[in-house]
Amino acid sequence: MKQIAILGSTGSIGVSTLEIVASHPDTFRVVALSAGKNLELCARQVRQFRPKLVAVADPHDLPRLRELLDGQDVEITGGLEGLCAVATADGVQMVVAAIVGAAGLVPTAAAIRAGKDVALANKETLVTAGHLFMELVATHQVKLHPVDSEHSAVFQSITGHRNQDITKIILTASGGPFRETPLERLKTVTVQDALNHPNWSMGRKITIDSATMMNKGLEVIEARWLFDAPADKISVNIHPQSIIHSMVEYVDGCVIAQLGMPDMKAPIAYALSYPARVSSGIKPLDLTELSGLTFFKPDLERFPCLGLAYRALGEGESMPAVMNAANEIAVEAFLEGRISFLQIARVIEQTMDRHQAHRLSSIDEVLAADQWGREAARAICTTMTR
Ligand code: NAD
Ligand code: MG
Repeated sequence: MKQIAILGSTGSIGVSTLEIVASHPDTFRVVALSAGKNLELCARQVRQFRPKLVAVADPHDLPRLRELLDGQDVEITGGLEGLCAVATADGVQMVVAAIVGAAGLVPTAAAIRAGKDVALANKETLVTAGHLFMELVATHQVKLHPVDSEHSAVFQSITGHRNQDITKIILTASGGPFRETPLERLKTVTVQDALNHPNWSMGRKITIDSATMMNKGLEVIEARWLFDAPADKISVNIHPQSIIHSMVEYVDGCVIAQLGMPDMKAPIAYALSYPARVSSGIKPLDLTELSGLTFFKPDLERFPCLGLAYRALGEGESMPAVMNAANEIAVEAFLEGRISFLQIARVIEQTMDRHQAHRLSSIDEVLAADQWGREAARAICTTMTR
């Protein structure tokens, strides 16, 4: 029985993780959960899965959660300390890091320091603090299993091969809802248009990141750290059907790919059960039902955020953390109707232009760079007129 803690149990990845756990009650047990704002769902999850510990991100929400869980045999805690308590709870073997954004950084680092294996969905932790995270993973000898579907595909395609034989990691991207929208129309697309992803059902922030393709940019940086690959070995192909989840090319010209229906339950199940495989409940792939698999080079004029992510990776040091922070602020401003879709990339670019990259040697320094990026991006947002 593998004992699991979930950071971000009420989100899209958290809920899918709990579905996998529920369908394998003899294989997985949830010992601790953490949630953000959806207290009702969190309380229902506690009733169903009976963890020993539950944490809510904002300590102001503690009285309400206590009320909702009145009579339940569960320890209730809150704030960053509470999230870290979930990440380090006794008996937990694997922590599913499914908080969105840099907010996941500190609890995920706490999990690794406590010797827990990590199933990582929260890509922003590797984007902001990749070198420190990989050092922590090595020092504490924990396993880091990717949940992101592309990285799970790469992980599955490199097992049994030597790193030096890899010539290219090819991440696939759906291209999101605006892959073919006339560039002129992009000026006036709405939040609803941007949230309308053709293939994947996900949280709001990553759905907007998919529309701008910043998501793929974050994934390029994530791949750089997970697979110890330089930027020029990581490329992106647009593949609108989202059937091939990514590929690895080798020195002999062979390419290994992983295929499946687009459903996060497959990579989540693999991250939880590796090296074994368990059923994920997703529909098996029938290639004869598909009309075709197509691939295109991404257009950086249409998707400037992808170019910005390569730039941040090239400049390195604190630049990816600042880029990520600016993206979080810009996406929030777009979702709240304060800036337009095309202004997301402009806010990020202007924030990066103002930043002098510097070395980050601790998580505290990463948090300071993150804070700097947020403040700069907020100030830039206020200068934008729609
Ligand atoms: P989501 O918004 O649906 O859920 C986020 C979870 O984190 C929720 O439980 C929320 O309550 C919690 N949370 C939010 N802010 C918090 C804070 N400040 N402190 C503590 N908890 C907080 O997001 P999601 O789509 O599930 O994505 C989670 C992570 O997984 C992201 O990093 C995303 O990039 C990554 N990811 C998601 C998918 C997907 O299909 N949804 C696929 C690949 C990777
Ligand atoms: Mg992905």
